[in-house]
Amino acid sequence: AVPDDAPWLAGLNPEQHQAVTILDGPLLVLSGAGTGKTRVLTARLAHLLASRRAQPWQCLAVTFTNRAAREMRERVAALVGPAANDLWLGTFHSICLRILRRHAEAVGLTHDFTILDADDQLRLLKRVIEEEGLDVKSCPPQAVMAQIQRWKDQALAPDKLPAGRPGDAAQARSARLYRLYQERLRGLNACDFGDLLLHVLTLFLGDEGVLRYWQGRFRYLLVDEYQDTNVAQYLWLRLLAQTHHNICCVGDDDQSIYSWRGAEIGNILRFEQDFPGAKLVRLERNYRSTPPILAAAAGLIAHNEGRLGKTLRPGRAHDPATVEKVRSRAVWDGEAEARMVVEEIEALHRRGDRLSGMAILVRVGFQTREFEERLIATGVPYRVIGGPRFYERAEIRDALAYLRLVVAPSDSLAFERIVNLPKRGLGNAALGEIAAFARAQGLPLLEAARRLVASGEMKPRPRKALGEFVADIDRWRALLGSLAPEDLADTILDESGYVAMWKADKAPDAAGRVENLAELTAAIAEYESIPSFLEHVALVMENDAKAEGDRVVVMTLHGAKGLEFDSVFLPGWEEEVFPHVRALEEGGNKGLEEERRLAYVGLTRARRRVLISFAANRRIYNQWRTQLPSRFLAEIPDDEIEREAAPGLFAGGGGEPAPRDPSWERPERPRWSDRPQRAEPAAASWPKPVRRGAAFAVGARVRHDRFGLGTVLAVEGHTVHVAFDEAGPRTLIDSYLTAA
Ligand code: ATP
Ligand code: MG
Repeated sequence: AVPDDAPWLAGLNPEQHQAVTILDGPLLVLSGAGTGKTRVLTARLAHLLASRRAQPWQCLAVTFTNRAAREMRERVAALVGPAANDLWLGTFHSICLRILRRHAEAVGLTHDFTILDADDQLRLLKRVIEEEGLDVKSCPPQAVMAQIQRWKDQALAPDKLPAGRPGDAAQARSARLYRLYQERLRGLNACDFGDLLLHVLTLFLGDEGVLRYWQGRFRYLLVDEYQDTNVAQYLWLRLLAQTHHNICCVGDDDQSIYSWRGAEIGNILRFEQDFPGAKLVRLERNYRSTPPILAAAAGLIAHNEGRLGKTLRPGRAHDPATVEKVRSRAVWDGEAEARMVVEEIEALHRRGDRLSGMAILVRVGFQTREFEERLIATGVPYRVIGGPRFYERAEIRDALAYLRLVVAPSDSLAFERIVNLPKRGLGNAALGEIAAFARAQGLPLLEAARRLVASGEMKPRPRKALGEFVADIDRWRALLGSLAPEDLADTILDESGYVAMWKADKAPDAAGRVENLAELTAAIAEYESIPSFLEHVALVMENDAKAEGDRVVVMTLHGAKGLEFDSVFLPGWEEEVFPHVRALEEGGNKGLEEERRLAYVGLTRARRRVLISFAANRRIYNQWRTQLPSRFLAEIPDDEIEREAAPGLFAGGGGEPAPRDPSWERPERPRWSDRPQRAEPAAASWPKPVRRGAAFAVGARVRHDRFGLGTVLAVEGHTVHVAFDEAGPRTLIDSYLTAA
């Protein structure tokens, strides 16, 4: 028996104690943020081991990320020692992978099968589409892949698909491609991520003996973040728990934020049906956050309908003298926001707060850029969790490679990276030829390519493509001195087809990449020239080398689930940023409610301090826009939040606290606009973006915000040469010109 004073039982409240010690039978812990759900699971593992109810390898615990698994294992190890090493503890994927390695033959693979990454998956599917005689334009691989993944999330193997609606030809086509894709995977002795779970399900359902083995093997099942399981994961759990019903799931319906990946909140409701007699434990005491943070979060989430509903009470005492209200702060623009947040961080750090206890949680990936720049500029150490740092992202590296090659034609690494990106029909043969010629002649690749094209030795097709590529680089290079750096970067990314490539991409992360590229151009606008920008980037990247030590955390809200920090910074609370524009465009309440849950997750990460910020102006997709504060700000009860608005920032605000502004209550869609002028004259006037593609005739009179009136001398694509009446001859991009 386990002594009552076992360390993992110490300090638990009665409900938590129950959730830890009722080991047998189905148990659902449904509770709000910070009530100790994860702590209960950890204690439960320790209790199972100490009570000798199960050997470590007979306990299966599922967490949402590998990081969470590692932390849980460390905590259990601290409580009961090395036995923790033998627990089956990991994500659904990692556990299914372990199981599948043992039974690969049963699903037509051998034990050393490979797992394809997202790129390989797409390439394979594309080949299947082409072999079927379909056109990838009318049948984009990304869209088909998204459908296949949805089917896999729902545990639908190709032979299990429901009959499509009659006449739904696209659906029927996807179903056929799905079957062929799976056949090809098997032929390659490979599977994709979604398959890991699906194959194990197929295995369990197809082989009674194997299922019995694993059911007997895992005598106790524990699941964290249960609200974000999808149908396939649910079925998998149900099968494993079928005989003994020893399954304990903990979750919070208010924190369900992955429905876009197939998560089903209905799994919570199903639990009690599928496991009759399930015990339900509710934890109501929150041990993480101060009362104002809890009240703010509760007030916000109360705006969602159809919640299961629950109470949250502070679980520990707080000294009213030191408790801080949630704060919101209006700022001028994104740069001011980053400056303000980093100043706060520095002030807290000077006061003695740990940097690793502070987190900046953003809604979308591109938002990290301005914070990273500011943190680097001020020398505050930071790390980005859950994603690469801004300048390490693949699309940013590609774009930088274009810029590098234009600035330094001898940069052969850059050449290699982009010469066939987007695809220009330059196959391995042509690239090999260039490389061999370059080696033989001791030339950089670009120069070698130029000479090969001139020599006429290449086959006509690659020769033409390569010739055009070299000419493009030359043309852009000629613009280096005359075009503003951000305009030139725009031109390059546009004319090369690189941005268009991502815009045409239907993969879920493609839109984010396009956003990142626009953010890159915005960053370049802050520099004198492209070479000086590239120098800056090189410095930023070098700063990345060391990752240890006390560091501020920068990450997305989605990635922050389950974590906690003393101080949480929540920037960008503006309509169409957060709630995100895609959720608003969906219409209806579903998307909006999921955004609100995400805001709830953000607020409840904080132990002591929350600072929400929003900008009056923001550059999005390289356009300046007038922003409106997020409706979520207005939904936080006035008593719980201190609203600090800088005077005059928002129309009608007049220095009053922002909530008096009617736009708080009824946000309208923000208008496109140029960068608004401050009361005091801005250092530089900003070009006014107009719609792309305005064609100007030679001789036409045009106007530019910075250079005034002029006459068009020549036009090449989007590039226009203009003789300005006062500023003289200039080369510009057409979208910054208007007809005079
Ligand atoms: P989330 O929903 O955000 O995942 P959670 O319900 O999993 O939250 P935990 O992370 O387990 O909550 O706990 C939140 C914090 O409260 C942790 O720091 C944990 O150590 C602490 N805590 C939990 N229970 C108690 C308790 N009985 N006494 C003191 N502190 C506790
Ligand atoms: Mg948790």
